[in-house]
Amino acid sequence: MTASPKFFVMLGPPASGKGTQGRLFAEERGFNYLSTGSQLRREIEESSPIGQRAKRYLEHHQYVPDDLIIELVTDWLEKQEGGWLLDGFPRSVPQAKALLEIVTGELITLDLQVPADELSRRVSIRRECPECGSVATNVRDTCERCGGKLESRADDSKEGFQERYKVYRELTLPALDYLRSLSRVVEIDGVGSREEVAIRIKEALR
Ligand code: AMP
Repeated sequence: MTASPKFFVMLGPPASGKGTQGRLFAEERGFNYLSTGSQLRREIEESSPIGQRAKRYLEHHQYVPDDLIIELVTDWLEKQEGGWLLDGFPRSVPQAKALLEIVTGELITLDLQVPADELSRRVSIRRECPECGSVATNVRDTCERCGGKLESRADDSKEGFQERYKVYRELTLPALDYLRSLSRVVEIDGVGSREEVAIRIKEALR
């Protein structure tokens, strides 16, 4: 019998739903979960040494330097036992190389695909829970998961989205090609309700 894969990456452009689907997937499988974007926002909020280094990049809708994020993820991975899912890492070819050097087992990347006009529509309405990182695109003020107060993300302006989408195409699409050449990448249609997309992910992994 072959063991089921335990190491996953969730990638996709801004507002593709990777946080929502990543968290759901990890919860269902009992996996450890790290969203590098949420973690960076927390570090900035706490003004930690990592947060202080990362702040200006997030403010300018740019990726933080590879060495900073690779160190953050490597430190986290070293502490994990069992399966895990990384949401939003790796986002560049050097990050993908670093991850493939660390992983000792099958790595599966879930690539959420959503057209640009739908992404920009979602960005204009979505809010995030600063407590647990959950994302909502409904009219509620409080987080369904933990009751925290939902807030718009500072980087979710129209210009912010366009800049982040550009960086995604320039740096993350090549990283996806690199991962595809050396590991399994599964494309998922990310348009639809949370439940519909979650079912597609399950079916694609059967
Ligand atoms: P996200 O919440 O995934 O949209 O990430 C928010 C922001 O955090 C990104 O726009 C980047 O500035 C930064 N970030 C998150 N993950 C990475 C990464 N793997 N590499 C570089 N920057 C990242």
